[in-house]
Amino acid sequence: SKPVHIIGAGLAGSEAAWQVAEAGIPVILHEMRPSRMTAAHQSGGFAELVCSNSFRSDDHLGNAVGLLHEEMRRNGSLIMGMGDLFQLPAGGALAVDRDAFSEAVTTMLTQHPNITIQYGEVSGLPPADWGNTIIATGPLTSDALAKSILAETDVDSLAFFDAIAPIVYKDSIDFDKAWMQSRYDKKGPGGDGADYINCPLDKDQYYAFIEALTSAEQTEFKDFEKDTPYFESCLPIEVMASRGPETLRFGPMKPVGLTNPHNPTVKAYAIAQLRQDNGLGTLYNMVGFQTKMKYGSQADVIRMIPGLEKAVFARLGGIHRNTFINSPKLLDAQLRLKSRPDLRFAGQIMGVEGYVESAALGLIAGRMAAAQAKGNTLSAPPVTTALGALVEHVTGGFMDGPKAKFQPMNVNFGLFPPVENLVMKKPDGTRARGKDKTRVKRRAMAERALADIKDWPR
Ligand code: FAD
Repeated sequence: SKPVHIIGAGLAGSEAAWQVAEAGIPVILHEMRPSRMTAAHQSGGFAELVCSNSFRSDDHLGNAVGLLHEEMRRNGSLIMGMGDLFQLPAGGALAVDRDAFSEAVTTMLTQHPNITIQYGEVSGLPPADWGNTIIATGPLTSDALAKSILAETDVDSLAFFDAIAPIVYKDSIDFDKAWMQSRYDKKGPGGDGADYINCPLDKDQYYAFIEALTSAEQTEFKDFEKDTPYFESCLPIEVMASRGPETLRFGPMKPVGLTNPHNPTVKAYAIAQLRQDNGLGTLYNMVGFQTKMKYGSQADVIRMIPGLEKAVFARLGGIHRNTFINSPKLLDAQLRLKSRPDLRFAGQIMGVEGYVESAALGLIAGRMAAAQAKGNTLSAPPVTTALGALVEHVTGGFMDGPKAKFQPMNVNFGLFPPVENLVMKKPDGTRARGKDKTRVKRRAMAERALADIKDWPR
């Protein structure tokens, strides 16, 4: 049969190529390295890990990325197979020997009888006669290809990432201090005037916070990132704070239009607001808190805010260049461009973060493309699985409204629908309290996911 073309042999493209080839369909895998490098890759090897060598937690019953590992293993993932083979000791995390890992992935693909490697940059959208194609060119997609994707979609669809704000689990916020209210009780579409979570600071707390913020350690820019301008409307919060101690009080932390029901007679000196981030309402992002503080100090500084002392983060803020498309708007349920259904996307360019998440979308896109080559249609896995939750994030996780902005994310339990009628008991039968409740909830979601993923056809 006609080959499936796959552009990019990174984490997503390598996994997709493996899945298509293993389904018995020929693959032409295009990779521009080593003749044309990206600003972050160091080698010509496939599936190069550009920064850390960790696939993060391997706890499949307590951590969403660990669960994703397990679902991928059960679906014959090449990336997980080679990751497991070249694992390094790292506690509960899955760390890998990056060179051995990349070499092994490269060998497995180059030696596969169904795969042909074509080196060289694909410098524009593929011609229609390629047919069934997967674009998996990642956050550092070459400029020429990025430009032609931009032209095919529309101006605001290919985002150049600047800074991102942290996202907090709602159930880790202390509502004895925080409260729900929109400024001036403004009602958004479908809202009840209580769309935001507000955290009040008094004068001393505010100045202590500003002091910590401006002295916190910041991530250094890589050389290639130095030229990337900030959007003035999206400045990192510590950059704003460094312009003067009052800047935030007159900016994102202004205390106007809000009344603290826990303390109605005292006006807060400043207020931090969080906005709902997913359809389920389990995740909230910190409005205006985009930051490049280092992860450790970032969590410490944010936990100084009353109500957020015990905040658990689904994602910390950060800054780097990142090319991604507005997937919920542009892609169909088969991960294909609505305007060019011969083009399917995979990996970080669709709006996920991380090695494992990118490979996961490669796995799904590869399986869908293989089914299509055989004249069939394969639906995404159910949304109760980690694989399905990721697809839901990129195709349906878009919230309506003029301010809605699709943002990349790691997999996390906030993307899963809650388990109904859950009995709050620990494995030993005793009642779960406090943090144990979160463990019970996560375990129930993970067990449901592993049961449901079995039904996804292999
Ligand atoms: P990639 O792995 O980048 O693969 C894309 C491939 O496409 C590359 O091989 C590239 O050479 C090729 N390509 C691009 N354009 C073309 C073209 N026009 N023609 C042919 N080939 C092309 N994630 C983590 O989990 N942990 C981290 O520590 C981490 N650190 C990061 C640091 C930086 C600086 C960046 C930019 C990203 C980081 N990420 C990290 C995210 C990480 O890049 C992705 O998670 C992952 O590599 C994305 O997988 P991908 O397959 O989508 O893209």
